[in-house]
Amino acid sequence: MVKSKRFEGKVVIVTASTQGIGLAIAERLGLEGASVVISSRKQQNVDAAAEKLRAKGIEVLGVVCHVSNPQQRKELILKTVQKYGKIDVVVSNAAANPSVDSILQTKDTVLDKLWEINVKATILLLKDAAPHLQKGSSVVIISSIAGYNPPPSLAMYGVTKTALLGLTKALAAEMAPDTRVNCVAPGFVPTNFASFITTNEAVRKELEDKTILKRLGTTEDMAAATAFLASDDASYITGETIVVAGGTPSRL
Ligand code: NAP
Repeated sequence: MVKSKRFEGKVVIVTASTQGIGLAIAERLGLEGASVVISSRKQQNVDAAAEKLRAKGIEVLGVVCHVSNPQQRKELILKTVQKYGKIDVVVSNAAANPSVDSILQTKDTVLDKLWEINVKATILLLKDAAPHLQKGSSVVIISSIAGYNPPPSLAMYGVTKTALLGLTKALAAEMAPDTRVNCVAPGFVPTNFASFITTNEAVRKELEDKTILKRLGTTEDMAAATAFLASDDASYITGETIVVAGGTPSRL
């Protein structure tokens, strides 16, 4: 039960937010009072998710935005500003993981897609959003536990997520003092994206056992950490990554 209202009067954009972690983040921030702008590639997913959030009393605008489409990124920002007049929070959550190949076996086109969606789109979206970001605004980038120690089956994806840890630090310096930039590195969460967990009981058990808390993460766990970093409760925190992975080894 969400009781605090840390985002009253705030305008929040969350990319890739029609299901999974992105939708949970939109819901959490919306229940805490934000006007939320949700987006993903497919209109029908945008409409369905917007409906779900409205049914919970959340003020929501739905916009189709494939994050690697320059025109759709611009529309996302434009429609947000046309409707709400400003942007307080951007959560960059979209990612692709198109291959399980080893790094040296990954096709050139797949490498391009990974960098394009997982890293470059975040930068370009923030470039478009920057002129509208308010004093006291905040960016949260969604990385992954795989960014700390890329596992063989997620190696290249993991490396793009490592890049987001550096991007967070560099942008925090660049966008200070008006905008804070932080990052959340989720552990494994059973969503469509992580179908290797949801479809394979042995893999699921192995990943649960790697955590200290002996369970997988939930989308709500990720939303809670994102809400903290995006809120004024974290007003003296920037350039940081919170690992939300039940104690799965990441770093000292
Ligand atoms: P998910 O449940 O599969 O949801 C993916 C969402 O992204 C959907 O709303 C999808 O809607 C949208 N989407 C996909 N490609 C997009 C694109 N190119 N542009 C815009 N929207 C797009 O995924 P998830 O597990 O929540 O993952 C969200 C983030 O968490 C990703 O950055 C992922 O790397 C990270 N993460 C996940 C896990 C995990 O175990 N699940 C662990 C660590 C990190 P449409 O199909 O309509 O586009």
